[in-house]
Amino acid sequence: MQVDTRHNPNQQLRDVLHIIATHPETEPCITLILQTAAQFTGATGAAYYSLHQTTITVGEAAALDVDFETAATLDAPLFDSVGHFLICPVRNPDRMLGVMGLSLDSDFQFGDAERDFISALVDGLVIVAGRASAQLEYKKLMRSQNEFVRLVSHDLRSPLTSMRGFADMLGMVGELNERQGQFVEKVLSGVVQITALVDNIQDAGRFDPETGFYEMTRSQCDLRDMLTTIVSSYLIPAEKQDLKINVDVSDDVPIINADSNMLVRAITNLVDNAIKYTPNGRKVDVISYVRDGSVVIGVRDSGLGISPEDQKQLFQRGVRVQRAEHKKVKGSGLGLFIVKSVALRHGGDAWVESEMGVGSIFSFSIPLKGANLVIPDENAG
Ligand code: ADP
Repeated sequence: MQVDTRHNPNQQLRDVLHIIATHPETEPCITLILQTAAQFTGATGAAYYSLHQTTITVGEAAALDVDFETAATLDAPLFDSVGHFLICPVRNPDRMLGVMGLSLDSDFQFGDAERDFISALVDGLVIVAGRASAQLEYKKLMRSQNEFVRLVSHDLRSPLTSMRGFADMLGMVGELNERQGQFVEKVLSGVVQITALVDNIQDAGRFDPETGFYEMTRSQCDLRDMLTTIVSSYLIPAEKQDLKINVDVSDDVPIINADSNMLVRAITNLVDNAIKYTPNGRKVDVISYVRDGSVVIGVRDSGLGISPEDQKQLFQRGVRVQRAEHKKVKGSGLGLFIVKSVALRHGGDAWVESEMGVGSIFSFSIPLKGANLVIPDENAG
């Protein structure tokens, strides 16, 4: 990214501010601001020193000749003691964010035009650095929340497992009458629901590509086997809803080198949703095929469908469609976030195609390249 400031500085300033308002990444935006400041003032170098101890430099930026804390107390741009380094504090109304410095020639004239231009760029830095610092705070918060969730879900898991085990065994230690049998069924179904929720809360935290701490373990994954196994565990709920559920894997789908635990969790969430959001007596297809250099895994239903408006936010954490027929179904809004996280951590993506009242197909892709490829074993015969 580069903007030429020599011809029409105001226009160039507008261009820079537009780019930084729309570009999501911090470093290229700060570099653009520094380049623009250096080009306009003829500085030999420029630097941004952030409060988080990261420095971004363009050209030959001199070292900051004033300690950071003193620079941070300045109200306006000031030349350092040597007189060649313009120090510009970068702060928003709440706090200090950093300092921009420009290495200038000794005969540089710091007139009104220069002052206005530099202050506009500093305003730009306030936006970018403020955004970056908010993102950092968010990530810190998410990390501590993830850690908390990890501990809580770990502690919840063992009592849930023993509740399930003992409820399962009740019928073995003495014959249950019909009502007792029904009550045990209800206890078991409650335990299964809480376990699924705990799994989703835990996975949404640890799989999150930005703040999760999950370390991927790759192994050879046969999608045909995986999809068939997952679907067979849903045959009873599908039968209860009189749903037909098919698996269709194209012949060209190869074995991939992926994290099977993550894939199972993503596919399970999609199949679970398709069953939950499809009325009785219809059909669900679980498919896999190769398209544009990726393996795609998709789950097609003939259920409620989702409007284009509701599709926009669907893969974000905690988002549920706010319609009566969706709210009737129990859920936490974490399943699709997990699907997207699993796809992104394998370098792919997740998406939905849907029509209201007709049905949806939720898909995610795993690119057939890099670590996802199975490397042929040279020693194999
Ligand atoms: P939830 O636990 O609420 O199902 P998800 O993240 O899995 O969470 O899904 C988010 C929302 O997307 C759901 O609340 C539902 O409204 C909608 N949705 C997901 N899958 C389907 C589907 N197959 N058909 C219709 N709506 C769906």
